[in-house]
Amino acid sequence: MKTIFDKCKLGDLTLKSRIIRTGLWESQQNDLDAIYERYEKIASSGVGLITSELYSIYPKDKFTEHSFKMGNLNFMTMARKIAEITHSYDVPILGQVEFIKYNRGIDLDISVNDLTIEDIRQIQSDIIEAAQKLQVAGFDGIQLSVGNNFFLSKFINPYYNQRNDDYGGSVFNRMRLVLELVKVMKDNLDLHVSVKVNTFDERKDGFDSHESLEACKLLEKVGADSIQVTRPLSPLYFTKKLSGEGELIDYTNKLIDSVDVPVIVGGGFNNMLHMNEILNSTDIEFLSMYRPFVAQGDFLKDWKDNGCGESRCLKCNNCYRTKTSTCYHY
Ligand code: SF4
Repeated sequence: MKTIFDKCKLGDLTLKSRIIRTGLWESQQNDLDAIYERYEKIASSGVGLITSELYSIYPKDKFTEHSFKMGNLNFMTMARKIAEITHSYDVPILGQVEFIKYNRGIDLDISVNDLTIEDIRQIQSDIIEAAQKLQVAGFDGIQLSVGNNFFLSKFINPYYNQRNDDYGGSVFNRMRLVLELVKVMKDNLDLHVSVKVNTFDERKDGFDSHESLEACKLLEKVGADSIQVTRPLSPLYFTKKLSGEGELIDYTNKLIDSVDVPVIVGGGFNNMLHMNEILNSTDIEFLSMYRPFVAQGDFLKDWKDNGCGESRCLKCNNCYRTKTSTCYHY
């Protein structure tokens, strides 16, 4: 019988449970002590792996205001400290890196189709530099989001990408930017490289689940260490009234059959017994959670002590919509 609190391996990382905490917004950037306190709570809770809030690589990006900027003077101080905190509880940490808009000088919001090869190289080198910073700060890895609605999810999506060069057309070509990037990071850095990928995009002629499976197989080939499955506007599909969980679970099972790298899935999970049921009725081994950790950083302690539990998160999505790392209700 599998349980969420099994000790396990996720590639090269040793985890004390099957729960991956995924972060998103950072509204406490001006209060480092509050960030450290939050990480202390999460790391001490029994979580297996922490993925940081989104870190912003570009100062004028859409979500920069709601993220810790990697170019800030105090980024390394903060990053070193939270790596130190999570490691003191034997919890590995990945830094989540992505961007929404690409600006070239005064030309803002360049589209996927208008990127020059120099722009592509610039993006790759900016992300590699971000990965180097994470390594120096003591992080165990990087999570690159090619999912949700971030820029790279658009780059690999035929709905947006109509390029006629080596970076457009087939899934391989649309994935080329990301594949080159993963390969360079794996060849040159000592980091776990995790990639977050959409299962599908509901737009007509958008990225579909067949393309997604193909993309994940390519990621495995170039050395990605783990894959996290997601979907555009993820939290909005997992509310009290709505659950898109089934689709994600079915897709994840198919993906697990197709690749050997560990696969993580998130889907609004909030109940320990239900999560154990998923683990035992499917091949899924790793479950990701976001909002329950916003509602209560250390809820897993109670779940472990009681042998069951349900998150107090109301799935109202106020923290998601207003882009805060703290809960509106508690
Ligand atoms: S604001 Fe709402 S969705 Fe966010 S953690 Fe609190 S209860 Fe959950």
